[in-house]
Amino acid sequence: MPRMKKLAILGSTGSIGTQALEVVREQPEQFQVELLTCGNRVDLLIEQALEFKPNAVVIGDAAQLPRVKDALFPQGIKAYAGPEALEQSVAMEGIDTVLTALVGYAGLKPTVAAIEAGKNIALANKETLVVAGALVTKAAREKAVNIYPVDSEHSAIFQCLAGEWENPIEKIVLTASGGPFRGKSREELAAVTKAQALKHPNWDMGAKITIDSASLMNKGLEAIEAKWLFNLKKEQIEIVVHPQSIIHSVVQFRDGSMKAQMGLPDMKLPIQYALSYPQRLQTNWPRFDFTKYPALTFEQPDLATFRNLALALDAMDRGGNAPCVLNAANEIAVELFLKDAIGFLEMSDLVEHCLAHVPFTPDPQLADLMASDAEARRLARERVPSAWRS
Ligand code: NDP
Ligand code: MG
Repeated sequence: MPRMKKLAILGSTGSIGTQALEVVREQPEQFQVELLTCGNRVDLLIEQALEFKPNAVVIGDAAQLPRVKDALFPQGIKAYAGPEALEQSVAMEGIDTVLTALVGYAGLKPTVAAIEAGKNIALANKETLVVAGALVTKAAREKAVNIYPVDSEHSAIFQCLAGEWENPIEKIVLTASGGPFRGKSREELAAVTKAQALKHPNWDMGAKITIDSASLMNKGLEAIEAKWLFNLKKEQIEIVVHPQSIIHSVVQFRDGSMKAQMGLPDMKLPIQYALSYPQRLQTNWPRFDFTKYPALTFEQPDLATFRNLALALDAMDRGGNAPCVLNAANEIAVELFLKDAIGFLEMSDLVEHCLAHVPFTPDPQLADLMASDAEARRLARERVPSAWRS
């Protein structure tokens, strides 16, 4: 029997993190949890640690560390706080695979630290590749570390490529649900509320990615993620809206053959595949039934209405620090939209403003990217009324 895989789950209290723990709960013979981390939802983290008995936990909010230590020390579980502790913990001996399920730019440094320590990565945190795809994939090659995609579209592509490693990809088709505002005009989008944007038709996810899905920024981030994961040019990435979210993405090979991966929308499958690859593990999750879906439909994305997607594809084309600037500006835009400080369409305005004003760097190193990220955040906050800046 293969040895149990030892996991670090970064962001275990989030949507992907809790679903990853469900997978671990369902497959107790396969996985053992070594490290759990969160930002500030420490009650849930303590509960998870008492159940899964990791070696250590890391929290973001240092003020809550004494409480976490009190709860976990008697069980022999170590507890630390802060970003440096997180970077050190992923390098712990005994961890095989690090699942990066943090949200946003905060995922970059721990992912880099895990790669440097030679750990395989199950990558949910797409922002890492958007910000620093060139550096991260180069580091992974140098350390002979595998990056297994968790994002459902990228997992679909990865699954279609199994057994095809020698065959070049002609193109991929990334499917998009279109989100809750598919078919709406710009006039209608100007008036949409946070509550409407937070209701995704097919997926139950964290707030940031849910807003990104409504604005189609998520698909732009995913195109950039796919470029780095599968070494593609812009012309090889086609985006098609598929509202039922059954076909998770497609690979077209040079003989014209297309392979698609499909199934009900449930993130547990791509999470489990990233953790168990190359094995497929038995599950009793609901199966897709063709007769219940008489029509699977496809349409072009509307780039004129959903400008975020056009901005992201343009940033991908420009390369350099442009995707990093796009990401930073978007993180601030989403945060401000969630605080009701700006409207839905103003998110694209902020991103466009930052892309136009942060100086372009063609071949950025990590320090350049950190500076671009900080500058984009500063510019984005400067644009909005002072009451909302912090
Ligand atoms: P959530 O917001 O649900 O969870 C984020 C997790 O990261 C939480 O555990 C949170 O802790 C932790 N966290 C947030 N900020 C920090 C920080 N600064 N330092 C340390 N920990 C932090 O996000 P999701 O699970 O939805 O998404 C995670 C990633 O996966 C994103 O990059 C997203 O794009 C990607 N993804 C998600 C999908 C989904 O279905 N949810 C699908 C495909 C990709 P706390 O709970 O304490 O705040
Ligand atoms: Mg996705």
